[in-house]
Amino acid sequence: MKKQTITFCLLSLSLLASLTAAQAPAQSGPITAIKAGRLIDPETGTAAANQVIIIEGEKIKEVGANLAIPAGATVIDLSKFTVLPGLVDAHTHMAITYKEQPENNYYYLTYVMDSTPLRAIQAASNGIQLLNSGFTVIRDVGNNALYADTALRQAIEQGWLPGPTVIPSGIIIGGTGGQFWPTPEMYKQHNIVYPEYLDANTRDEIVRAVRENMLFGARTIKLCIDCKPWGYSVEDIKLAISEAAKGGCKVDGHVQTPEGAQRAIDAGIYIISHGNALTPEHHRQMAEKGIFLAGTDTPFTKYRGSEAAFKQTVAKLRDAWEKKVPLTFSTDLDYWNERMKDEKTGEWMSRGDLTIAFLDTWKAAGIPAADILRAITINGYKAADIIKERGPIKPGLFADMIAVAGDPLTDIDALRNVQFVMKNGMVFKKDGVMSPEKFFHPGPVRIPSGRYTR
Ligand SMILES: [Zn+2]
Repeated sequence: MKKQTITFCLLSLSLLASLTAAQAPAQSGPITAIKAGRLIDPETGTAAANQVIIIEGEKIKEVGANLAIPAGATVIDLSKFTVLPGLVDAHTHMAITYKEQPENNYYYLTYVMDSTPLRAIQAASNGIQLLNSGFTVIRDVGNNALYADTALRQAIEQGWLPGPTVIPSGIIIGGTGGQFWPTPEMYKQHNIVYPEYLDANTRDEIVRAVRENMLFGARTIKLCIDCKPWGYSVEDIKLAISEAAKGGCKVDGHVQTPEGAQRAIDAGIYIISHGNALTPEHHRQMAEKGIFLAGTDTPFTKYRGSEAAFKQTVAKLRDAWEKKVPLTFSTDLDYWNERMKDEKTGEWMSRGDLTIAFLDTWKAAGIPAADILRAITINGYKAADIIKERGPIKPGLFADMIAVAGDPLTDIDALRNVQFVMKNGMVFKKDGVMSPEKFFHPGPVRIPSGRYTR
C-alpha cells in the first residue's frame, strides 16, 4: 500500500470515528427512576423498604434509599408493590408443543407436522407469554427443529420483539437415535424428524456436533447422557465439556437412569436435567460438586400428571433441597391440551401461567418461600451462566425486574400475579397490563455482539 493511501485511510478512519461518536445515541440513554415499596434481594432472602432504582438506558445505575431522582427522569411509582429480579425457567422448550389432537401427544408426529418456521413463530408467541408472567430469562434446551431457539434469541436481542433472554442449546446431541427409536428409514435417510437430534457417537463426532451448535448460536450444550443403552461415557462427557468451553458454553445433561446420572456427575457436568432418576447419593455428590439441578418438577393438575408420579417428584425435590443441591426452577413445558383453563375464570392459561403453576410442586415439597425464590432467580441466572450480565438488581447490570403485590418471601404464590415487568430498562407490563409497543422494531436496534458464541 502506498504512503498517500495509508494517510488517506487514516484520515478516513478518524473522520469516521468522529462521525460515529456524533451520530451514535448517547451511551447513557433515558433515565428512569423506580420507587419500590419493597425491594427483594433473593440471594440473601431479605427485603429493603422504600428503595429507589435509577436506570440509565438499558442498565441499572444506582440502587438505594433516599437517592435523589435526576431531573427529567421518568418516575415509575411501585411504592405499593414488591420489586424483585425477573424469574428464570431453567429448562423449557419454546418451539415445540405436542398436543392430544391431532398427534395424540406423540411428539414424533409434531416434528413431522409442524415446520421449523411455524414452530419459530410459536416460540416468539411463547416468549411473550413467558415475559408477561415475569420470566426474563429462559434456558431453551432443544427440540426446536432447525434452530428456532437460536433464531428466537437473535430476534429478541436485536430488538424485533419482546421476550425473555434466551439461552438456547441448539440441537440436542445424542448417540445414534437421540431420544428416538426411529424406523430404519428415518434413521438412515435423516429426512424425517431428524432436525431434532444430532447423532454423535465417536469423539470426532462429539466435537463436531458441539461446534455445529455453537456456530449456529447455542449458548449452552445439551447432551443426551443415557437416552440409549450405549449412552455417553465419562470421557465422552468430559470431551463435550472441554469443547463447549471453547465457545463459552456450559453443558447440560439429560439424565434418565441412575447410571447415566453417575457418569454425568463424575464428568463434572454443569447442570443435570430431570430429577427422576437421581438418588439421595447423587444429590449428595451434586451438592458437593455444585452441580445445578433442573428437576423439571411437574405438578399434578387437572390437565397433567398423576398423583403417584407427583408424590415421587415431590419426594425427590425435597431430598435434593435437604441435601443442598443448587436447585433451579424448571418445567420441561412442551405440551398443550384443552383442559388448560383457569379454574376461576374459565379462560385459557398462557404458557406463562402454565410455567408458574409449577410452584405447586415446590410448595408440596415444603420448601421455604425464600429458597424457592432463590431457585427461580439467582440459581437460574447462575445455571444460565449470565449472572455477571443480568439478573440481580445491582448497578452495572441490565435493568430486568418485576413487581408483585404482597410478599413472595413469605407467600410464594404472590409470583402468580405479576403486575409489572421491565426488560432491558423498558417497561413491558404495567398495572397488570402488557404495554409492549417499545419492544417492536423493524430493524436491529442492537447489532448482536457475540452473535454466535460468547
Ligand atoms: Zn426437556
